[in-house]
Order: sequence, then structure tokens, then C-alpha cells
Amino acid sequence: MASLPQANMASVSLSSRLNKAVRQQYMSLPQGERVQVTYIWIDGSGEGLRNKTRTLDVEPQTIDDIPEWNFDGSSTYQAEGSNSDMYLVPVRMFRDPFTQDPNKLVLCEVLKYNRLPAETNHRMNCNKVMEQVKEHIIWFGIEQEYTLLGIDGHPYSWPTNGFPAPQGPYYCGVGADKAFGRDIVECHYKACLYAGVNIYGSNAEVMPSQWEYQVGPCEGIEMGDHLWVSRFLLHRVCEDFGVVATLDPKPMTGNWNGAGCHTNVSTKQMREEGGLEFIEQAIEKLSKRHKEHIQVYDPRGGKDNMRRLSGHHETSSIHDFSAGVANRGASIRIPRPVGQEKKGYFEDRRPSANCDPYAVTKAIAYTCLLHSEDMEESEEENIPAM
Ligand code: ADP
Ligand code: MN
Ligand code: MN
Ligand code: MN
Repeated sequence: MASLPQANMASVSLSSRLNKAVRQQYMSLPQGERVQVTYIWIDGSGEGLRNKTRTLDVEPQTIDDIPEWNFDGSSTYQAEGSNSDMYLVPVRMFRDPFTQDPNKLVLCEVLKYNRLPAETNHRMNCNKVMEQVKEHIIWFGIEQEYTLLGIDGHPYSWPTNGFPAPQGPYYCGVGADKAFGRDIVECHYKACLYAGVNIYGSNAEVMPSQWEYQVGPCEGIEMGDHLWVSRFLLHRVCEDFGVVATLDPKPMTGNWNGAGCHTNVSTKQMREEGGLEFIEQAIEKLSKRHKEHIQVYDPRGGKDNMRRLSGHHETSSIHDFSAGVANRGASIRIPRPVGQEKKGYFEDRRPSANCDPYAVTKAIAYTCLLHSEDMEESEEENIPAM
């Protein structure tokens, strides 16, 4: 008989079991005129998020009301100890669903002491490309898959010794033996709506304790901004519940699905009558730059996706480019309604769950709208490299 999941309380953090009624007494105190602003940034791993909070005297109305700040880059894999101050440049403001109005979350770009972008700041170049393709009104929608783990690193609510019943009943499933950790999914969804993150939907995934939410459609640079903040909210909600969300693209080897960041894309032309022609043109361009894209679709130049893009479990092989209508085993899928209506968007299924959305959306915009095979090298120089 397949083992049923058992609650293993040791795998839930101690902090999550602190007295929440006591917390609520303090959280409901009036805070006066002053406002807490939590600065969020991407650390030197290119995957980890960091944050710290300061007080502002009045509520910021726009991003321009939030001052630059700095942090110790030697503690975030971002600088040597001898020259360690890094700049935090606010780029997008959200409401804070944890401490609530009027407090803010602010996503920041990281600059080095010389004000050049930090190694893992892919936003600056992404933004340059998005500015160059502005007339196309490019939209993205990203499906973020993730897996819940206990603090012991084992998938949340999987039996300690053994495995849950094989995949089949879990995708979009309901019931205590099929959906594990829904509290987190629902709280994260509300947190995104409150914050102002453009969340589109959510569903339980194929592997038990694996979930997905989608963000979008977002125009240009907003895709990366909203996805990174949605990830911050996810990790923060999980912290409250004492579990961990991993974006590892293949958390369990064997007959278990991996986790991706399917990236849906459309331009104004693709969305208009007869847009399928422009979708096909974009796919043709993508087919010629498969290797370049695989290199930027995970933080380790394709190594992470090697474990995931096997050609099995609803993925394509990492070595080949393929495309097809309604084909979930292809690199690029054209959704069936798009094939029927001959307009809409396409889905790039290759990005890994832990990808940097700035790197992914930049590569797609660049390849589909700026790159030309017979482009002079001098022209290419003005466009930031992949
Ligand atoms: P799937 O069928 O692949 O599981 P989902 O329903 O999970 O698809 O996700 C669809 C995604 O497509 C969402 O992120 C949504 O924002 C995005 N999307 C919808 N329309 C467009 C469009 N015209 N251009 C770009 N993205 C879009
Ligand atoms: Mn989906
Ligand atoms: Mn999915
Ligand atoms: Mn998808």
C-alpha cells in the first residue's frame, strides 16, 4: 500500500510556532506618521533575496520619494571586505502585506562602489533592451513553479522514509491526500494582490507538494520586477508557516516532475488579427539561438536545466529546439486556442524555476525583435550582449 503523508512536526521551524497572539498585540499598535520601508534586493548568488528595513518620516507617494541606501556587500557574496559598500537604488514600490499600510516594500537594483551594476544585477541591461523594443508593447506572463520543503530539506509532508503514491492525482488536486500546503498558496495569493503584484492565477502541480502561480501579463521590465517581488512574498509567507519554498528545477530525481518558469510572450502584432505569422517569425528566430538561450535560462549557464530538460516529464531535451501547437514536450508551445484564432502568444517552456526573469525576458526580446543575422558588428555593439 502507498504510504500516506504524515505530519512531521520536526520539519516545521521553531519560529513559526512563536505565540502569534502576542505578535498581533504589537502589530496592531498605531505607528504614527512614520513609515517602515523594506528594501529588497538580489544577492550575489543571483537567486537569493535579501531585505532590510528603515523608517521614513512621511509616506512615500512614488518611487522617487524613496532614497537610495547601501549595504555590506561582503556579507551577500557581492563585494570584498575592504571595499564593501554597495548601493541600493529603489526601482519599484509595493504595499507591504505583512506590516500593512502605509508601510512599503521596495525592490532595488544593486550598484557597486563605482556605480556600475553588480554582477547579478541583470535588470539594468534588460531595461535597455526593453526601452529599445518599446514600440512593440511586448508582454510577458511567467508561470513560477516551486516545491515546498520542510526545514529538514525533505519535500513537505512526504513520508520520512519512503515516497508518496506516484504522480497522477496531484495536479490541480483537492483533498488532504492530494494537496499539501495549500495554506501557503492561498496566503501568498492574497499577499500578492494586496502588495500590487500582478498575480494571474495558481494551481497545484504534478508532483505532490509542488505548486505554481502565474504573474502577468506584464509589459517589458515590469515582468522581472513583479516576479522577483512575488518570490520575496513566497519566501516570506513560507517563513511564517515554518517551511521552505525551493526553486530548484529538479528537487527530486526519478519519476517526479521538475520545476520551470514557462515564459509566455506576445507583441502588439502577435495579439492582432493574423498575429500567428509574427509568432512563427519569432519562433524561427529563437530556433537559431537555442544554445545562447539555454545559457541564460538558469543561473548556472545550463547546468541546472541539464537535470530538468530531459525530454521526459513534460519537458523537451536541453540539446534540441522544437516547437508545436499544444505540445508540452516542445521547447516552444503555441497554446491550442492561439493556433485556432491565429493570434495571441507563445510559451517558452525552457526557463528553469530558479532563472532570473530579467535575463530570460531580455534574451527573448533581443532575439525576437533586435537580433539580425546579417547585422553589422558595429550595430550589434549598441545592444547589451546576452
Ligand atoms: P499553461 O496552460 O501553460 O499552464 P497558465 O494558465 O499557467 O498556462 O499561464 C498562462 C500565462 O500566460 C499567464 O502568466 C498569463 O499572464 C500569460 N498570458 C496570457 N495572455 C498573454 C499574452 N497575450 N501575452 C503574454 N502572456 C500572456
Ligand atoms: Mn501553468
Ligand atoms: Mn506548470
Ligand atoms: Mn505552461
